[in-house]
Amino acid sequence: MSVIDSLGMLVARKWIAGEDLQHAIQEAKRINSHKESVIMNYLGEDLKSKKLVEQNMDQIMQLLDQMHSKKIKGSIAVKPTQTGLIVSTSYFEKNYSMILAKASRYDITVWLDMEQYRFVPSTINTYLKFHKRYKNTGVCIQAKLKRSLKDVERIAKHNGMVRLVKGAYKYPSTIAFQDKRDVYNNYLRCMAYLFSHADKFMIASHDDKIIKIAINSEKKYHKRISFGMLKGVRSSLAAKIAESEDMNIYLPYGEEWIKYSMRRLSEWEHTKIIIRSIIQG
Ligand SMILES: Cc1cc2nc3c(=O)[nH]c(=O)nc-3n(C[C@H](O)[C@H](O)[C@H](O)COP(=O)(O)OP(=O)(O)OC[C@H]3O[C@@H](n4cnc5c(N)ncnc54)[C@H](O)[C@@H]3O)c2cc1C
Repeated sequence: MSVIDSLGMLVARKWIAGEDLQHAIQEAKRINSHKESVIMNYLGEDLKSKKLVEQNMDQIMQLLDQMHSKKIKGSIAVKPTQTGLIVSTSYFEKNYSMILAKASRYDITVWLDMEQYRFVPSTINTYLKFHKRYKNTGVCIQAKLKRSLKDVERIAKHNGMVRLVKGAYKYPSTIAFQDKRDVYNNYLRCMAYLFSHADKFMIASHDDKIIKIAINSEKKYHKRISFGMLKGVRSSLAAKIAESEDMNIYLPYGEEWIKYSMRRLSEWEHTKIIIRSIIQG
């Protein structure tokens, strides 16, 4: 095994629950016992065939059943390209509505993860089409994209629920802020809009300054929002925040963990965070 593979394995154990649902549920219970909720994610993306999408749909349905029967406190996250968006928008919408129908019976929230730029418009349009019927759903918005403040405004105006992140994908300067400072500032702009116009949203970040501003804004606006962090990143801070706030730990699992870990490792900023989190816990 190469050094990179070994590092990937070490990293994966730190922030992926395991390869199967049983391990994921065990890890979710452990996290729940620490007053934290989970955002469970069966790993899958970029699926081009209906056969693969159907396999993923089976797993997602089983995940919902298990979360319900084992009384797991939390939500799930699915990727649009995991649930059929590459095949066609109508196929994605059919699958998304099936997930929403089951999840709403169990009172479980379904987050749509945000993927590459080309999927942003259809992800938001589909989200806005369904959230009127199913209240138990939210969508991720990437603050590094220049369009995101407008997207946040549009979603908030429709009473939708945003999970705000900086964004994990690389984009050209025509569509995205390149400087970390500019991404941070756009995050604050989007967050400020949410505080003044939205009732429910999630601040998903490990950035101390953002978290501090969010906690102060909760008092100013008399709003109780939720926070999100990735499993294994800044666990001590997550536990501290969970004492007084609604903290949600993103918990990926599944056979695709190697692919997922390798892609994360290739993003240098993320790698620095992960290496620091391995050292500091
Ligand atoms: C719940 C959740 C869901 C997500 N969903 C998506 C999604 O659907 N689509 C998407 O594109 N991205 C998603 N992401 C990833 C996100 O876009 C970012 O890539 C990731 O969260 C890193 O950004 P950050 O806000 O933590 O800020 P960063 O700028 O990466 O980190 C902030 C600062 O926090 C400090 N810090 C971070 N980690 C540590 C540590 N371990 N120890 C000490 N200090 C540390 C450092 O000072 C760092 O500069 C998600 C993230 C979370 C938490």
